[in-house]
Amino acid sequence: MSLIKKTSLPAVAKDRDSAKNRACLMCGDTFKSEGAHNRICRKCKETKTWREGRSSVEYSV
Ligand SMILES: [Zn+2]
Repeated sequence: MSLIKKTSLPAVAKDRDSAKNRACLMCGDTFKSEGAHNRICRKCKETKTWREGRSSVEYSV
């Protein structure tokens, strides 16, 4: 619908919408996600477990 394109804000609004609080897939804590691709909190990404087995967690969808 062209009407939506006219009224929606540029990329800034889109980025703000995609960056929101999500539940970490590893520990369940709520964290500030950078987007749909970001499902693991920074704390877990720093752990040894994340670095060794990230493939099974990140791409399980
Ligand atoms: Zn976590």
